Amino acid sequence: MATTLQSAISVLKGAGPKFAEKFASLDIHTVSDLLFHLPYKYQDRTRIAAIGSLRMGMAVVIEGQVRACQVLFGRRRSLVCRIQDDSGVISIRLFHFTKAQQNQLKAGTLVRCYGEVRMGPTGLEMIHPEYSIAHSGELAPLEQSLTPLYPTTEGINQTRMRSLIEQALTLLRQQQGLPEWLPAAWLNELNLPSLTEAILTLHQPNRDSDIMALLEGSHPAQQRLAIEELLAHHLSMLAYRQQQQSCGAQPTVKSTRLAPALLANLPFQLTQAQHRVFEEISQDLQRPIPMLRLVQGDVGSGKTLVAMLAALQAIESGLQVALMAPTELLAQQHFTNVSTWAEPLGVKCAALLGKTSKKERDVILPQLQNGQIEFLIGTHALFQDGVNYHNLGLVIIDEQHRFGVQQRLALKEKAANGAAHQLAMTATPIPRTLAMTAFADLDVSIIDELPPGRTPVTTTVLSQSRKDAVIRRVDAACQDGRQIYWVCTLIEESDELQLAAAQSSANELAEALPHRRIGLLHGKLKAAEKNQLMEAFKRHELDILVATTVIEVGVDVPNASVMIIENPERLGLAQLHQLRGRVGRGTVESFCLLMFGDELSEQGKQRLEVMRSTNDGFVIAEEDLKLRGPGEVLGTRQTGAIAFRVANLERDEALIPYVGQLAQRLMQEYPQHVQPIINRWLIHADKYSQV
Ligand code: ADP
Ligand code: MG
Repeated sequence: MATTLQSAISVLKGAGPKFAEKFASLDIHTVSDLLFHLPYKYQDRTRIAAIGSLRMGMAVVIEGQVRACQVLFGRRRSLVCRIQDDSGVISIRLFHFTKAQQNQLKAGTLVRCYGEVRMGPTGLEMIHPEYSIAHSGELAPLEQSLTPLYPTTEGINQTRMRSLIEQALTLLRQQQGLPEWLPAAWLNELNLPSLTEAILTLHQPNRDSDIMALLEGSHPAQQRLAIEELLAHHLSMLAYRQQQQSCGAQPTVKSTRLAPALLANLPFQLTQAQHRVFEEISQDLQRPIPMLRLVQGDVGSGKTLVAMLAALQAIESGLQVALMAPTELLAQQHFTNVSTWAEPLGVKCAALLGKTSKKERDVILPQLQNGQIEFLIGTHALFQDGVNYHNLGLVIIDEQHRFGVQQRLALKEKAANGAAHQLAMTATPIPRTLAMTAFADLDVSIIDELPPGRTPVTTTVLSQSRKDAVIRRVDAACQDGRQIYWVCTLIEESDELQLAAAQSSANELAEALPHRRIGLLHGKLKAAEKNQLMEAFKRHELDILVATTVIEVGVDVPNASVMIIENPERLGLAQLHQLRGRVGRGTVESFCLLMFGDELSEQGKQRLEVMRSTNDGFVIAEEDLKLRGPGEVLGTRQTGAIAFRVANLERDEALIPYVGQLAQRLMQEYPQHVQPIINRWLIHADKYSQV
């Protein structure tokens, strides 16, 4: 069979079967994959820099004669050569050298060096440059193009990688390039090269290329790839949305009975923002195509109530509603809230949790199937086999960033014809650009207002060495009738280690404060035990709740107004913000103490400073994005959709609104190009296109 770009890389010279696995670890399987394996850096070895023109930090080739070469005995022994050309002198310094090298670099020898210029004790120098010596007065010819440096892996070095990529490029030229899916007119408009040109340029940029742009990622060839990659992601999500909406959904009518009755019973008014967002949802629910909406709102902004109103609209129109939460604790709490609101209205609710006994299930499941139960609340138990609905019309997902697409879909599949309205909620504020990319398949509503009467949390950052003082402060707060969360964090996901850390903190507190009632909440407890603990804490039968990060989402105890977080530097800012949202729920002033460990990095300090200086979840999310990148900010959300190969959401932010427009145009004018673009960039594209 003739070799093509789609052939396995084993057809290339130097890529035998034993390398396949190594390349596979770099996600390289075919010749074409090699073309998309781009350099992470470039070096300019195409020209010789005048020694007199050098400045610190430059990485350059120089050529000159050795004037002097001697071994210096400073703090460390080193071989130092003075090298001169017409314009100046520089030192090269070797800490590790052989007698042979010392002899080779004797005065009068012509050498060429490549290295980074830095400031040494006696002026500019290069430490351990790569160098070559002239043989019979001649040095090898200079490189013709900039030198690419590729990401590699154990067992595959730069040389092998370069050689394989060169073969792939030769094949690319022979086969007249890759198929181009962006219309030439658009590329002209944008001043961007074709895909094939871009790839050739990035692997072998000619010596006049703008190396600074290449290093930054702003070169037109890189932007050309970035735009297509962003487009591919965007298109795949729009395709997913289209496919979802093609099955239709049952329209509802505006609630005239249940929702108004709930609002009349509440001891407070909806905020403007809650009102607006519910209107948006209500409109969606009146249409015969599925709603696909994400509600974003900071912790405590009152998302549950908005979801409740949506549920009532659906129930009044004869549909069943399922609400899925990421943890048992949260599901239980939702069930408690929801039934308090719903039962007086005569709406039948039930909870389906991991802990729900077989006996209870045997009652719930038939009532669900015959439609008696109108509102079911639970964890992912909601979409297990054997759970059948009479007429599921609305699926609500709380803290949706905790769920993968699969789970979201599985629940929706329980609806008749797989067509249900979907409402997702998240307290993780997602920066605008990121939202446009990661949630292109969802409409987004934002609750940008907290209910009145909340006092902002005062945050203090201090060192673990002040723990004694902190414990005294905790004691004083308990004396004032307040309750305290004491949160222990660990990097490891291991429940055992988390538990050990929390256990030792709890012991320490118990010893220091024997007169206080202390509880310990951790992931190893059974759901029922967790609930009991939380209920006891709510009833103020405990003063201090020591906990691992299991209390993160949704827990609501208004009298708990102080939170201590041990080793906050181990968590993402968004997660810290969520944790901190557990306090500041009542009307008394609330405090959060971030007690950092011994080795706090400069970046770690900056991050905690962000937490101290603002309570605004969106500001925090923006900072998190800058400091940690989109993968971390979005958590488990469709990680495949944000692991970009070329694009970088921060650097390419300006492209993003543009990508949205291009996606629309492409779908209208070149629908046959949509799938090929998705396939080229999304290895896991099937996640969207085949669901
Ligand atoms: P979150 O958005 O974090 O999920 P919740 O829905 O849990 O927030 O609401 C937090 C608390 O605020 C709950 O006790 C809820 O009853 C209360 N709440 C919701 N809306 C309002 C409002 N408009 N005015 C006063 N309190 C409200
Ligand atoms: Mg909530």
